[in-house]
Amino acid sequence: MQLSRGKAKTLFTVKNQPQQLIMHFRDDTSAFNGNKIESIPGKGRLNNLFNHHIMQHLRSHHIATHHIQLINDTDSLVHSLTMLPIECVIRNRSTGSLCKRLGIPENQILDPPLFEFFLKNDSLGDPLITKSHILTFNWATRTQAELMKSLSMQVNRLLLPLFQQAGYILVDFKLEFGYQPSHPNNLFLADEFTLDGCRLWDSNTLEKMDKDRFRHNLGNVLQSYQTVATQLGIPHIHPS
Ligand code: ADP
Ligand code: UDP
Repeated sequence: MQLSRGKAKTLFTVKNQPQQLIMHFRDDTSAFNGNKIESIPGKGRLNNLFNHHIMQHLRSHHIATHHIQLINDTDSLVHSLTMLPIECVIRNRSTGSLCKRLGIPENQILDPPLFEFFLKNDSLGDPLITKSHILTFNWATRTQAELMKSLSMQVNRLLLPLFQQAGYILVDFKLEFGYQPSHPNNLFLADEFTLDGCRLWDSNTLEKMDKDRFRHNLGNVLQSYQTVATQLGIPHIHPS
């Protein structure tokens, strides 16, 4: 049974397994809080395989993730979680909304990496929030807020070298976390890690390989996603 349909993924319940969900990656691609929407045939499949690869890498380095296993080309089995209504963004280089908001020049190295919380609310345009907003409005507990930050930093430390070895700079990315109601202080990395939710630049040419190609009509969106997946050594990336 369909549980929810977001901008790019659909969640389904699993018969006799109330603690699990099927996450279906669609070809739909959206930007600017859902104001630009298109279908890119093959993107759902690529994102599902890419996400599986990254989640497996993180799990092998002791990050708890919601990902259980691939079901098929476009679907994965995940743990059903109570989601925190917060987007955690890590930035290693300045670009995007950070430059607009603070007048920072593009492509400045951010050391230490910058961590930001955003409220997940499309109708408000996902506003930047602080830990104080989170505590006052009960969007998460203090422990959960601290865990979201430390887990995001850990993910960054694990993924920076993974992408660097493949020839890319991990510029920034967004993470979401959730928990099982019986263990609210055990956060799982949830949602997805794909090129839809991060910025990745070619280390030599600084060419954009991520969803900015879609946002700014740069073309070759699927081809770029495929190139990155191939460079990472993700198997079966070319449809049979
Ligand atoms: P959105 O329109 O919010 O960007 P997506 O199309 O990416 O959404 O749909 C995924 C939805 O599923 C998001 O709302 C996300 O918070 C939620 N979600 C991700 N992982 C889980 C999980 N393990 N359990 C429950 N909900 C999840
Ligand atoms: N991001 C995302 N979903 C969002 C907002 C941001 O996946 O709703 C990702 C985005 O792809 C980028 C990072 O978070 O990798 C930082 O995005 P930024 O705040 O610069 O926003 P933008 O410039 O895309 O509005």
